[in-house]
Amino acid sequence: MPADEMTINSAIFIKSSESVKQLPKSNYPEYAFIGRSNVGKSSLINSLCQRKNLAKTSSTPGKTRLINHFLINNAWYLVDLPGYGFARVSRSMRNKFSGLVHEYLLSRESLVNTYVLIDSRLPPQNIDLEFMEWMALNQLPFTMIFTKADKLSKNQLNTNLIQYHSAMLQFWEELPSHIVTSSLDGRGRNEILSQIESCNRLYNTPK
Ligand code: GDP
Repeated sequence: MPADEMTINSAIFIKSSESVKQLPKSNYPEYAFIGRSNVGKSSLINSLCQRKNLAKTSSTPGKTRLINHFLINNAWYLVDLPGYGFARVSRSMRNKFSGLVHEYLLSRESLVNTYVLIDSRLPPQNIDLEFMEWMALNQLPFTMIFTKADKLSKNQLNTNLIQYHSAMLQFWEELPSHIVTSSLDGRGRNEILSQIESCNRLYNTPK
């Protein structure tokens, strides 16, 4: 097993928070997952943790508008953030969710990295590009996660990745790192977990 490969021994739901005041104490390094509704976030979280129903899918009412904390291996928090880009909610509701997400991202001291999920089947979406720009402007580190890669051929996948990259290079000098994933065939899973494992080591190294 490579040095940084991680086995998931435990994955426990801790709490759902509807404001930053309610968040659990920040006593573990944490990693947030975010993306448009239906991007495959719950499936990815379940696949990372090898649990069927740890993260609820977006069809579960209410769940998707809260910040959900899961404690993994008694060592780090996996954080399921509300999805952005709900088509069917009012602008004021949307602002409320993005307010909560922005406040969390800007204030959470123990947040180490954010995984921004992007549907690999779609051409570049403004809402994703805008969110990543906002992250960069606020100097928040993130990794792009392309989801549902099993639905595409290698060629289609490459074409879509290139499209994304050229859209981003209009505004960015260099591209953020990215990982291609599928919750169905498991690709990308070890890469994400190894990255988290290495970050955890750095986090726990005395400064
Ligand atoms: P969420 O709204 O972002 O939490 O998305 P879900 O995890 O609920 O997934 C939305 C839909 O996409 C569901 O029908 C999933 O079965 C499907 N899905 C999610 N991930 C994958 C994947 O990696 N491959 C395939 N083929 N389908 C996926």
